[in-house]
Amino acid sequence: CGILGLWSEGPVDVAGLLHLGLLALQHRGQEAAGMAVTDGKEFLVEKDLGLVNQVFTEERLGKLRLPEARLGLAHTRYSTTGSNLRINAQPLTARTAHGVLAIAHNGNFTNAKPLRDRLLREGATFQSTSDTEVMLLLLARLGHLSLPEAAAQAMRLLQGGYSILLMDRKTLLALRDPHGVRPLVLGRAPWGFAFASEPPALLLMGAEYVRDVRPGEVVWVEEGRLQSLQALPPEPTPCAFEWIYFARPDSVLDGAEAYEARVRMGMELFREAPAEADLVVPVPDSGIGAAVGYAKASGLPLEFGLYKNPYAGRTFIQPTQELRDLKTRLKLSPTGAVRGKRVVLVDDSIVRGTTSRRIVRMLKEAGALEVHFRVSSPPIRFPCYYGIDTAARKELIAAEKSVEEIRAYIGADSLAFLSEEGVRRAIGRPVCLACFNGRYPAGVPEEGEKLALE
Ligand code: 5GP
Ligand code: SF4
Ligand code: MG
Repeated sequence: CGILGLWSEGPVDVAGLLHLGLLALQHRGQEAAGMAVTDGKEFLVEKDLGLVNQVFTEERLGKLRLPEARLGLAHTRYSTTGSNLRINAQPLTARTAHGVLAIAHNGNFTNAKPLRDRLLREGATFQSTSDTEVMLLLLARLGHLSLPEAAAQAMRLLQGGYSILLMDRKTLLALRDPHGVRPLVLGRAPWGFAFASEPPALLLMGAEYVRDVRPGEVVWVEEGRLQSLQALPPEPTPCAFEWIYFARPDSVLDGAEAYEARVRMGMELFREAPAEADLVVPVPDSGIGAAVGYAKASGLPLEFGLYKNPYAGRTFIQPTQELRDLKTRLKLSPTGAVRGKRVVLVDDSIVRGTTSRRIVRMLKEAGALEVHFRVSSPPIRFPCYYGIDTAARKELIAAEKSVEEIRAYIGADSLAFLSEEGVRRAIGRPVCLACFNGRYPAGVPEEGEKLALE
């Protein structure tokens, strides 16, 4: 998911600014979009299933345009926990002892189920199947504390990877789990402060990047003052997949630029797995950075052997296999660059293997003599419990198959994955690699938790 929020000293077009920022975070979730806006008295929420520009028509934005608005937050949804239902679209709101609260959440709580069961036993009621609501209910229970203190206390009860924005009628809060699994950055604008999942969203809101929210930190803006408390000691292991694939290439997260990291992954990949070939072809768009690096390190020419239809969207968001199949064909087609050539095909990851198999076949049909598949991350063998929907374990091709078996399945002449060490070196800091090695830094849920929640 993508989250963003702003606090302004005086009245600004909060809805308009959030709309621009949301467009910069569209890649983080395409299932639903929403925003909450307040002028200190009225508290308005609009959200729905769909892309940002489908949900926020001029008419709908108009409904949120309070003339004295100074505070708001927004969300783009990518469903992990909780089904793709309208009721699970965010921001979620609740009337609590803290007044009206709105929350926007990126990530997952791994202990949402036991916390939810406890709250239910104590008489709480839930409106959605999303784990985000657990946070709201915890805050409601902590009504005797100030909102930042209640947020810090809730963080001590929650496990998992999460970045959260929270607002009441006058305060905007940002929190990041102690492992800093999901990104969150702080910006300063002439009118006040902004937070966003990734820096490009700040820029669109007219804010300048100041710093990343620290792992385990609660930052809030109250009456124009930026304040902070460290709820939990930081143990940073941000998600490697943000740099491998998920984040925008122009994002700098925790000090490391996604594009540069991807190029370095490609260079490492060539060092680990060179290939006898004529040219390097990226799988657009996610393989471009790594392909650039592979071409750089190998000295082979980089060619656009695949055309990506820019209007097709990201396929993996589609929940059923049939839709995914259709959309791959809609999305990619080979160009003449590969005819009569030995191709190094570079992509960021293999999840189910179905797209990769289809691409290899397409290139061969277009006249490629050989296809050497190079992947700029290790085989994904384990599910993510921290907010990236890399599919259930049984769907992961690398969970059961060896590299040679995957090569045979996708029909490539050779196949190699980047090592964990290569990923770590390219990103240049300790990171979560749990979907590759099964070592989960922020806890794992009980068996069947996601099903039980729904
Ligand atoms: P596959 O061959 O595994 O079907 O597809 C691999 C390609 O699709 C890669 O380019 C990867 O970026 C993208 N992809 C496919 N499915 C998923 C998914 O479930 N999650 C993520 N993060 N990426 C996916
Ligand atoms: Fe990222 Fe994988 Fe860790 Fe999930 S398990 S947070 S996708 S590195
Ligand atoms: Mg891709």
